[in-house]
Amino acid sequence: NERILLVNRPKGAPQKSDFRFEEASTPALENNQVLLKTIYLSVDPYMRGRMSDRKSYVPPFQLNEPISGGIVGQVVESLSGELEEGDFVIGNLAWQKYNVASDAEVRKLDPSLAPLTANLGVLGMTGLTAYFGLLDIGNPQEGETVVVSGAAGAVGTIVGQIAKIKGARVVGIAGSDDKISYLKDELGFDVAINYKTENVYEALKAACPDGVDVYFDNVGGEISDSVLALINKGARIPVCGQIALYNLEKADVGPRMQSQILINSALMKGFIVSDYAAHFEEGAIELAKWVKEGKISYSENIVDGFENTIDAFLGLFSGENTGKQLVKVAEP
Ligand code: NDP
Repeated sequence: NERILLVNRPKGAPQKSDFRFEEASTPALENNQVLLKTIYLSVDPYMRGRMSDRKSYVPPFQLNEPISGGIVGQVVESLSGELEEGDFVIGNLAWQKYNVASDAEVRKLDPSLAPLTANLGVLGMTGLTAYFGLLDIGNPQEGETVVVSGAAGAVGTIVGQIAKIKGARVVGIAGSDDKISYLKDELGFDVAINYKTENVYEALKAACPDGVDVYFDNVGGEISDSVLALINKGARIPVCGQIALYNLEKADVGPRMQSQILINSALMKGFIVSDYAAHFEEGAIELAKWVKEGKISYSENIVDGFENTIDAFLGLFSGENTGKQLVKVAEP
């Protein structure tokens, strides 16, 4: 059973040498347990935080232990009364080709309701992050201007489309011309800005003549400084991620723009998607409805092969992905 261990705590940007593939044996099943074949695994930016030994909302990964994360698996052997061979499940499991888990640790999926991969993206953790962060904290109103950074990623693409459903004007910020075209032509963003080739502040000022009412922050750093310079009175700023800072060895200065929060009586609020766990089901039902109605479309970047997991993870920090980054480990 092949698995991936964290062997060094990354200094700055993670390197391939921080990880190791190894073979391990699989323990025998006990009562209520299943043997799961990994079909898809999710790589996510938050995992970078868990690779460092610092306090956060989830404990750090242990050195020389497998990384873990969102996985869709298929039952290949069962000692559970609730799950049978062939069933698909989702859970937080180790980066291994096979996992042993109790039936209480995983949730059964109905593959007739949605493609398996959607459970790790638009209907899963990242879709729910967009849904609750935008609607509960951002609370966009018809005619308002919503700006989202990290706009072409798993969370950002859904944020922008929900904001459109709510009747807002939507401006996205992302890192390539292909992503900019995708946001405008496929997802209906009103404006999209390439932060690698444009002056973000000037482009935003032109794109938001009435200022910014909601800023959904996925990245932090200088991009966020530029957006915050343009917020309106009563603006709402869900702080979802700070990917521009995750690989810094020393904490950056700031937050630098509090005077903007102050003079605009704005609300800046961090959140973790699990804050909304009690409401996940209603969020997933609403997202599924919008997908079915064609109001939300989603894209997935699926890399083939367990051996490419680390490349897929590292690619998040160089912007290889449009939409949700996944790894296909095996055929169902
Ligand atoms: P994405 O699918 O958005 O992938 C990451 C993207 O970030 C890349 O594609 C890249 O796109 C962009 N990026 C990478 N480095 C930088 C940088 N230095 N500056 C600006 N952009 C950068 O990931 P997710 O949608 O899964 O996550 C988005 C954010 O939300 C992350 O910060 C993540 O940690 C956070 N998050 C928070 C959750 C919560 O509960 N609060 C839950 C899930 C995610 P580009 O080409 O545009 O640079």
